[in-house]
Amino acid sequence: MTTPPRIPSADALLRDAALAPLLADYGRSSATAALRQVLDALRAQLRAGTLQAAPTAPAAIATQVQQALARSHAPRLKPVFNLTGTVLHTNLGRALLPPEVVASVAQALTCPMNLEYDLEDGGRGDRDDLVTGLICQLTGAEAATIVNNNAAAVLLALGALAAGGEVVVSRGELVEIGGAFRIPDIMAQAGCRLVEVGTTNRTHAYDYERAIGEHTALLMKVHTSNYAIQGFTRSVQDADVAALAHAARLPMVVDLGSGTLVDMADWGLPPEVTVAQTIASGADVVTFSGDKLLGGPQAGIIVGRKDLIARIKRHPLKRALRVGKLTLAALEATLRLYQHPETLAQRLTTLRLFTRPASAMQAQAEALAPLLQTALGADWHIAPSPMASQIGSGALPVDSLDSFGLVLRPQAKTASVAQLQERLRRLPRPIIGRAQDGALWLDLRCLEAAEQPAFTEQLALLKA
Ligand SMILES: *Cc1c(COP(=O)(O)O)cnc(C)c1O
Repeated sequence: MTTPPRIPSADALLRDAALAPLLADYGRSSATAALRQVLDALRAQLRAGTLQAAPTAPAAIATQVQQALARSHAPRLKPVFNLTGTVLHTNLGRALLPPEVVASVAQALTCPMNLEYDLEDGGRGDRDDLVTGLICQLTGAEAATIVNNNAAAVLLALGALAAGGEVVVSRGELVEIGGAFRIPDIMAQAGCRLVEVGTTNRTHAYDYERAIGEHTALLMKVHTSNYAIQGFTRSVQDADVAALAHAARLPMVVDLGSGTLVDMADWGLPPEVTVAQTIASGADVVTFSGDKLLGGPQAGIIVGRKDLIARIKRHPLKRALRVGKLTLAALEATLRLYQHPETLAQRLTTLRLFTRPASAMQAQAEALAPLLQTALGADWHIAPSPMASQIGSGALPVDSLDSFGLVLRPQAKTASVAQLQERLRRLPRPIIGRAQDGALWLDLRCLEAAEQPAFTEQLALLKA
C-alpha cells in the first residue's frame, strides 16, 4: 500500500516561492481564486483515487494555476484568419475597417466630441446630422437616420409607418436572414399585418393592385439577399411597385439588405442595384446595412422622403435603437472615402478584398503550400487550387469571385478534416477555412500581404 499523496494547504502554497511570480503578475485575489479551483480539483481526484503524487508538488500546482490564470485572463474576442472564402462573413465580424476609420474611432473613444452639440450656435444638435448630409449626397435621398443594424431599421420603419395597418409583400420575398431575422416575424413585432401576394416564384403587378385596400399602410419590397429564385419566375420592378403605391397614395418601402452606394460593375464585380437607383426608381424609404457592401461599421441606415424619415425619427423605438458615437465616427470616416471614388478600391478594405485578382492569391498559394506541407507532414496532400469566393452577408448569393487558395486533403487514415480544423482553431490566431468534398479549403482572398507574416509564423506550432 502506498500512502495517498498529501495536498498542501492554500495558505502554505501562497507563501511558496513557486507561486510568487503568479501573485505578482495576476494579483493576489485572482491568483488565490485560481489556486482554490486547482486545489478543489486535486481533492476531487484524491477522493476518486486517481491522484498521482507528482501533481501535488508546489511547482506542479503552480503550473496548473498559471494555466488556469492564462485561460481566464485571455481575451475572448480575438483576431482570426478568415480563409472561408466569404468576405463579409457575419460570424467573423463582416466588414473590416480601413486605418482612417480606426483613427476616427480611436479619437471618438478618447476625446469629447460634438455628438449632439451644434457648433454653429452652441445649442443641442442631432447625432444623425453628423452623417446624413453625406448619405443624402451619395444616395440622392432627401433625409436619413441611423440605427443599430438593418434589422432594427426595418423594425423601426415598419413600426413608424405601418403599425396597425397592412403591409403588402410578395411571397417570393418573405426572407429569413441568418440569426432569426424573418420578415413575417419583424412585421408582427412592428404591429403590422403582413399581406402576402403572388406565389413563391411569380408575382405580378395585379397581385399588388388587388391587395391594396382601406387598411393598407404601405407596399414593401425585400431584397432576396441570400437566395435566388430561378427558372419560371417573375417579380415586379421597384419602379412599378412604387407607381402602384403612389397611385393609391401609399409609401413604398424597400429593405435593400446589403445596399451598395456605388455601382459594383465599375470594378468588374457582379452588378448589384445601388441605393441611389432604388431611390430614383421611386422608393419612398430604403433600409440597408452599414457593414455589408458599404464596408463600414454595424449600422442600419434608413433613407428616403423627408416627411417619412421625420415620422420614423419621432417614433419612441428610434431612441432605443440609436447608435453610439463609435458607430457614427466609423460611419462618417467610411463615407468620407466615398468622396474619392477613384481611390475607393485601394482604401476601402472590403472593396480592395473583393477586387483582389486571382493571380495575387495564386502567387500566395504557391508560396505557402510548401510551408504548410512542412508543418503538417506527409499525412496531408496540399495543393494550390483555383476556387470561388463569395461576397457574403447575403450580397449576390449566386455570383462568385474567381479566387485561389490551398486544398488540404488527408492522405493517411488517421488524418481527419474535422481534427485539422480543430488544430487550426487552437492556434494563437485561429485559422478558419471551409470543409468541402472531404478536404479543407483555405481561400487566400482575405489574407492580404501585410497579414501573411503573422500567418506563416505560427505554422511552426502545428508540428508534432
Ligand atoms: C442582412 C439583411 C438584413 C439584416 O441586416 P443586419 O444589418 O444584419 O441587421 C435585413 N434584410 C435583408 C434583406 C438583409 O440582407
